[in-house]
Amino acid sequence: MDSTDLGALGPYDQFDGLAPLHARERGMPRLHPYGPVGPGRAVTPGGGRLTLESDAVHHRVTLDHLGCEAQTTEEKNAAFRRIARGAEAHCLLAGCTHPARHADDNVYRLFEVPLGALEPTAFVRMILAVELGDFGPGEKFARAAETVINSDR
Ligand SMILES: [Zn+2]
Repeated sequence: MDSTDLGALGPYDQFDGLAPLHARERGMPRLHPYGPVGPGRAVTPGGGRLTLESDAVHHRVTLDHLGCEAQTTEEKNAAFRRIARGAEAHCLLAGCTHPARHADDNVYRLFEVPLGALEPTAFVRMILAVELGDFGPGEKFARAAETVINSDR
């Protein structure tokens, strides 16, 4: 573990190339790749900070990999983008009219999926799979929603 003092922001601890965690974040719960996901903020197996919230219409997931180049590669950005678009397709199917939530590739990502489209644990697990380099579940999710939309046209 490497500790870096970043002035007013620091100190941050970095472990083996993962996203550095602030001292306040080290006590956050860790998500298990196969475990259930509940509301709140947690550290992902890929070193990200993930927040799950739900309102009357959506489950909302935010994820950031601040300072972690391994989680912001072109390949992973594309996979995260596909999941976000798949979620938007589910929004269209649910009759949502809000603008797209995932506009560009960034270390800070936002996903919204309508209630009933997918359980939060399953949705988060797709995201965790991308962190670990498995793009299959996210691709399958995105294709399924797009197939339904395209068959309506
Ligand atoms: Zn929506």
